Amino acid sequence: MIRVTVWNEYVHEKTDKNVADIYPSGIHGAIAEFLGKEEDIVVRTATLDDENCGITKEVLDSTDVLIWWGHVAHHKVPDEIAYMVRDAVLEGMGLICLHSAHHSKPFRYLLGTSCNLTWRETNDGEILWVIEPSHPITRGIDRYFKLPAEETYGEPFVIPTPDKLLLIGNYSGGEVFRSGCLYERGNGKIFYFQPGHESYPTFYVPEVQTIIKNAVRFVNPIYREEIGCPHVRKITDEGSYVI
Ligand code: ZN
Repeated sequence: MIRVTVWNEYVHEKTDKNVADIYPSGIHGAIAEFLGKEEDIVVRTATLDDENCGITKEVLDSTDVLIWWGHVAHHKVPDEIAYMVRDAVLEGMGLICLHSAHHSKPFRYLLGTSCNLTWRETNDGEILWVIEPSHPITRGIDRYFKLPAEETYGEPFVIPTPDKLLLIGNYSGGEVFRSGCLYERGNGKIFYFQPGHESYPTFYVPEVQTIIKNAVRFVNPIYREEIGCPHVRKITDEGSYVI
């Protein structure tokens, strides 16, 4: 079983009735609901208001894939928790950052850039174009799919060039955006996926759910171990290797 923890700052849903109406059990609840129906996935959730933000070493050690949604409260996540998440990814834990988690501390600390972008909330429609149709994360998605309305995110998106770019978003207002970006950091895989503004029902869209489910399976670690920096002897000293 793939052990998934869905982390959500869970602020908008408690302060904005429109968002609460769309996600009555929170964005984390909506994501956990569709993931929990998968036979090979077990899900739990964590939020900012939980003790320790719901993130402890024990939680991370028993998490194969961490999904992160945050927006207005990135600064309320203590640095030491963000560094714990970063270090767990470097060991091999998978990380999926959704939408405005482009500015979350774990994502920025792993990528090392500002992760700034341009944005606008004007109910633009979006077409998400699959540019890597053979990739496991885009399996089951046609050439493109449409979202009737999303927050517009535009370039320049200040990220390192992705190891693999899987999706490009194109908005009715004209912008394009690198909407599905894959990275490897240490032993861990990171997937950034752009859709998911809180005031739209994006996480109920079948294609969005398919991509998140595929991403969980793809970033699930096959090897997890801290990469240390040991002083080592010559292998010839060990008696089993002769040139
Ligand atoms: Zn947003």
